[in-house]
Amino acid sequence: MVPPERTVPDRCPGVLAVHEAADGGLARVRLPGGVLSVSQLQVLTTASVELGDGHLELTSRANVQLRALQPGAPVELSERLYAAGLLPSITHERVRNILASPLSGLDQHSRYDVLPLVGELDRLLCATPGLAALPGRFLFALDDGRGDLASAKADVAVRMLDGQQGELVLAGVATGVQVPAERVVEVMAAAAEAFLSERAEQESEAWRLGEMEDGPQRVQKRLGLTSGPTGLQGGSAPAVAGAFGGPRGGVVVTVPLGVLGAEQARALAEAGSAVRVTPWRSVVVPGGQCAMDGLRRVGLVLEADSAWNGVTACAGRPGCGKALGDVRGDARRVVPGWSGGGRVHWSGCERRCGKPGGEFVDVVALGGGGYAVDGVAMGVDEVRAQ
Ligand code: SF4
Repeated sequence: MVPPERTVPDRCPGVLAVHEAADGGLARVRLPGGVLSVSQLQVLTTASVELGDGHLELTSRANVQLRALQPGAPVELSERLYAAGLLPSITHERVRNILASPLSGLDQHSRYDVLPLVGELDRLLCATPGLAALPGRFLFALDDGRGDLASAKADVAVRMLDGQQGELVLAGVATGVQVPAERVVEVMAAAAEAFLSERAEQESEAWRLGEMEDGPQRVQKRLGLTSGPTGLQGGSAPAVAGAFGGPRGGVVVTVPLGVLGAEQARALAEAGSAVRVTPWRSVVVPGGQCAMDGLRRVGLVLEADSAWNGVTACAGRPGCGKALGDVRGDARRVVPGWSGGGRVHWSGCERRCGKPGGEFVDVVALGGGGYAVDGVAMGVDEVRAQ
């Protein structure tokens, strides 16, 4: 792979480094493993209403964003998040990018509950001064064995093979290196440090391991890890909307376009004792089966065949100054008429922010109300899932 030529610094937003968007400040709050307690969700909801536009945006890395922050609001926001335990490190806040299988420990497909490892990895990252230099895009993933995070192509991932060990996956490539469960966190942090060392040695500007020439091989060599045959096979689809059974059970709730209104957030907070934000614009509520009717009443989706399940969109107008269309408004107008099925991503311009991994129908605004669908120009009412 040809290393990218960087012309701009890493401006990945955080809570302390707010991005100035067309509609005001945009703060991204890292949620390792997507996990939020009820009280933390309430803090975020109140902050979105009092300091932002009243919505929480769910991102493709299972984080949340608040938009339209007015001048002065970011300071107030950071104080509230610090008090709620959502900003445990000033120096490392933008490197706490840790995905975890959202149904880990909840259903029968979970080979190993990785949620405790998420907390351990988060603490180790924050306690390692050198790792504050990781780019804001560098991503860790802990897969409970089902393979649902394969398409995320995390820089450093471990997918559990059974209750004892997992396999190291670097930049989406299985290494065949088996790691005992008790060493998973230490090996992942060491791989991130090895990336930074290689980056410095090569004077590379890579933000991701896959952008560095022979990056995965270099990291593996630096760690002294020898490849063997991979024990990984296939993967599984994202968690499907609706109720699920298993050891604990719960519900998967699709949030249309990943935009959670205050009323919806409050309904989720009342549905269980915690929630897990997924990388697929949905939320898992462990033990939330009794609350399904109330969640539907506020416009959340619990039907596996709903067209909303596969639809994502970037901010578009008015939030982004580069947008050539109000993609969320247009999607809200036409998606309810679809019969469901297929993944579709709406973008306000060619950058395609927030696009999903894997295959999807590519809908890009052309300006003047038109869209290119997989490269074919058409009017918005002709856009369909395929
Ligand atoms: S894809 Fe374009 S319009 Fe959409 S958020 Fe990104 S830069 Fe803005």
